[in-house]
Amino acid sequence: MRERPFPLSSIIKNFTESMAFPNPQHPPHAILIAYPTLGHVIPSVHLAIKLASCGFVITFVNTQSIHHQTSKAASNSSHHKDDLFAAVRDSGLDIRYTTVSDGLPVAFDRSLHHEEFMQSLLHVFSAHVEELVAKIVKESVPPVTCLIADTFFVWPSMIAKKFDLLHVSFWTEPALVFSLYYHMDLLRKNGHFACQDTRKDSVDYIPGVKAIHPKDMMSYLQEKDISTVCHQIIFKAFKEIRSADFVLCNSIQELEPHTISALQAHVPFFAVGPIFPSGFIKSTVPTSLWLESDCTQWLDSKPHASVLYISFGSTVHVAKSDLLEIANGLLLTHVNFLWVLRPDVVSSEDQHPLPDGFEEAVRGRGMIIPWCSQIEVLTHPAIGGFLSHCGWNSTLESIWSEVPLLCFPLLTDQFTNRKLVVDDWRIGINLGDPCGMISKEEVSKNINRLMDEKSGAEFKSAVREMKKILENALMTNGSSVKNMEYFVRDLKTKIFASHAKNMCNGH
Ligand code: UDP
Repeated sequence: MRERPFPLSSIIKNFTESMAFPNPQHPPHAILIAYPTLGHVIPSVHLAIKLASCGFVITFVNTQSIHHQTSKAASNSSHHKDDLFAAVRDSGLDIRYTTVSDGLPVAFDRSLHHEEFMQSLLHVFSAHVEELVAKIVKESVPPVTCLIADTFFVWPSMIAKKFDLLHVSFWTEPALVFSLYYHMDLLRKNGHFACQDTRKDSVDYIPGVKAIHPKDMMSYLQEKDISTVCHQIIFKAFKEIRSADFVLCNSIQELEPHTISALQAHVPFFAVGPIFPSGFIKSTVPTSLWLESDCTQWLDSKPHASVLYISFGSTVHVAKSDLLEIANGLLLTHVNFLWVLRPDVVSSEDQHPLPDGFEEAVRGRGMIIPWCSQIEVLTHPAIGGFLSHCGWNSTLESIWSEVPLLCFPLLTDQFTNRKLVVDDWRIGINLGDPCGMISKEEVSKNINRLMDEKSGAEFKSAVREMKKILENALMTNGSSVKNMEYFVRDLKTKIFASHAKNMCNGH
């Protein structure tokens, strides 16, 4: 019998090889692991959808704790309960979904015991991730080609190397913040590291950063005690980043042109923001950790731009004394307000921190809720200002909704984001001295200043201009669209190169 031109054994061998190794014909398959706090999960979910729309296969990984809280909050739509991406998959995107333990029991109160939570992310989480990645890599078709992990994780380069994956780091904050962490060694050398209250001169030697006052740097760079677990995480994470193949950043080239081009000399850094749910409407992938209150009817009853929206994000705590000054400051105004007070905003052990009688005193003009769909609220025409802790997602969402900000930074990058908002872009004002105590008198004065039609007009028009920059970045040929294309092109080139190397090595 004549031998077939391609013996069966060789066909099977080639087929098996082509399934097991990255092949230029396969779509890139990325495991995307979201950092387990909401301000990181939300943009990670929308990055996953963006990449899947560009032809990627994504395996999205949430921690069991985030999954549990999200599915509980979304419990009225049973469709989503176990698979948060079910709705987008129905629309044709290949996003698979799974969970991993962060090392602590699901019921553990991570808000109350933040230190233990961070310890677990630093020391325990990587073992669980490694086990899961091994399983996904072994079972997946098409084969996994890259690992997309939040920059604050301490293990991505180790895991990427172990499984021969490309390492894509996802940075959810401004490029300025990335740059300050990246050049921490320069701050140390110049005595600006951990120099809270002792150095008043500006930092003017970070590549691509014109000048920044030490008090505008992230709290972790200012604090004198650098032995905390958060510091250990940051130090390790910014060592890891040096071997990343790519960094994707939720910022916009035109907002931070010099900082971004200076960074590009060190790392393949792609600004692909703003990363929002498609159409800037409530996402079909549930992301809220608490039940959302529907405020539409109440907002519908209020005049145009008359309501101050107040929220301090998903994670940080507010000192009770500050919360009381804000409440008493609101009492001194006649402004309408919608206030998101998370049950743990002061502490999960103090769930009713407002002064006695406050809710009765503001009845009709003030609404207090535990959580909402922020993008739905911000885009309501009744909203005229946003009293915010300056989380980066909130800042971008406020700009997109053309709502000027009243800034009350509390921790981490929020101080640096405030500087961008107030000093550089002039799309908002400070609630009080960003580094000092706030008083009810200045709270009421600044609320009135932002919400008054005349005195607030300059911030409104500045934020409208800034929105145009964001919009342009997302248009065909806009910078973020182009940067995403360049990223996909370069990633595929690297995958191809690694495929060729594997073939040469006889794998
Ligand atoms: N958010 C929300 N509902 C709320 C408060 C916040 O959906 O009641 C969302 C908000 O839209 C944003 C995220 O939670 O996307 C908070 O992220 P940010 O970076 O502003 O702050 P963080 O929570 O990380 O401190």
